[in-house]
Amino acid sequence: MNSLNREVGFRDVSTNEQKTLSKVSLENDSRKDIIYDTQCQLINALCLEEGFSVYRLTEFDRIRILMEIYQANYMKSDITYKCKACGTENVYKLDFQKIIDRFDKFDLSDRIFTTEDSNYTYKFTLNYPLVRNVSNFYRDYMKKYRNVGEAERQVLDNLGNIEYVNLFVKGVELIDKKDPDDRLSADLTLMTYAEVEKFIDQFPQNVIFSEGGGVMNYITKEFIERLNGVFQYEKCAHCGAESDEGIGSLVDFF
Ligand SMILES: [Zn+2]
Repeated sequence: MNSLNREVGFRDVSTNEQKTLSKVSLENDSRKDIIYDTQCQLINALCLEEGFSVYRLTEFDRIRILMEIYQANYMKSDITYKCKACGTENVYKLDFQKIIDRFDKFDLSDRIFTTEDSNYTYKFTLNYPLVRNVSNFYRDYMKKYRNVGEAERQVLDNLGNIEYVNLFVKGVELIDKKDPDDRLSADLTLMTYAEVEKFIDQFPQNVIFSEGGGVMNYITKEFIERLNGVFQYEKCAHCGAESDEGIGSLVDFF
């Protein structure tokens, strides 16, 4: 396992645990916070190592462990995907081994993204967030939007994805261009999600979002799209159109 640099053993999932997980997922379709924590607690319960907590690992590790658990227990092997072109419901088999092999080729070291405006150079240190921080994010996010109707859900899910990108910022350094010794740095891994959001909101728009540049674009490309890129694209059995997202991509695992 990557962020621990050693092997960790897990036992098989019991029938009861499988049932509980599907029940929680079905009954809490719009509660990402509950589904996320149920998955984390299952991972902790299956681990054979005393004191192990998935909350201390990175989101990358959590996803990889889930893949191994699903593979070993024959869970989630069939994914239903409705073709956007003709509406046919296709059922595809996930090749977990291929997915896990692709995960193992990832470079997990921190990435540095640098950009500047007329006054400052901004140096961002980026990596997969800690599971603890993602869990807090979903909890805060659901609290904030708990009472919205089903109609707004789609919009909010997209917004949630935008806010989720913030979690990949581990640290920022601001360097004054006129006086390079004048530096300000911040560690975001210890902040609450609300603090992170407030902190990032202070930056000029073009540093954060600009088309083709901006740190959020970089994170989307280098981390999130790469993660989704391990899943396979499939052709519709009826009309031959290719799926517009990887089959079994991350949304299928919430
Ligand atoms: Zn089709």
